[in-house]
Amino acid sequence: MIKDNISEIEHKIQAACDRAGRRRSEVTLIAVSKTKPNEMLEEAYALGMRHFGENKVQEMAQKYEDLNDQFPDKVYWHLIGHLQRNKVKYIIDKAFLIHSVDSLRLAQQIEEEADRKKLVCDILIEVNVAEEDTKFGVSCNEVIPLLTELTKLSHIRVRGLMTIAPYVENSEKNRKYFKKLRDLYVDIKSKNIDNNGNGSIIDTKCFDILSMGMTGDFEVAIEEGATMVRIGTGIFGERDYSKTV
Ligand SMILES: *Cc1c(COP(=O)(O)O)cnc(C)c1O
Repeated sequence: MIKDNISEIEHKIQAACDRAGRRRSEVTLIAVSKTKPNEMLEEAYALGMRHFGENKVQEMAQKYEDLNDQFPDKVYWHLIGHLQRNKVKYIIDKAFLIHSVDSLRLAQQIEEEADRKKLVCDILIEVNVAEEDTKFGVSCNEVIPLLTELTKLSHIRVRGLMTIAPYVENSEKNRKYFKKLRDLYVDIKSKNIDNNGNGSIIDTKCFDILSMGMTGDFEVAIEEGATMVRIGTGIFGERDYSKTV
């Protein structure tokens, strides 16, 4: 099942890239494995998946412990869900990328833990582009002020922006949100954010990730410039939250 799902998703990613005149290599597919058992991740790994997305700290830490050293190739663990400050320490050295930074306070906690572990943590700023009450993330006009503060933290590297678009039947409805986030991303890349004082600016070469698009809307997201798509249901099937691992 996973095999057929992945080939179907791959086919659609390629087609979306073709429509947008983009190369397939510009888009990273993250297999969102939340709630799914280790065996399914192993199966996905055997089929070539190397990026896994989890939304819960404990679940990610457990899967990392169970699987990371077992895989011959390097795998990349993405924390895509809301992160509480008191849990940063459990994943700071496991997450390849934290997609969900939406406050200075959270970033300061990441900075502290990263300093302690002597590493530099790659993060994305989560943006609630559609301004939904139920979603985490900063609004579009808060992104540059937050980014300006984050450039002062030496153990954090802001790699780009992330959004979770509304749940819609017709993915075309989300195109405007993806477009808006892409515009903001391009704006930041071209602007060089000043770091208030010592003259250093954001390294725009490292600001290169736009994480947007899920099972229901990833093709539109790719057409609008996504460099990472996060796909769960489309690869692993429906989630059953009654028996989460
Ligand atoms: C669960 C989740 C996904 C994947 O959702 P699907 O619709 O199953 O593809 C993507 N991003 C985030 C942040 C998620 O929590």
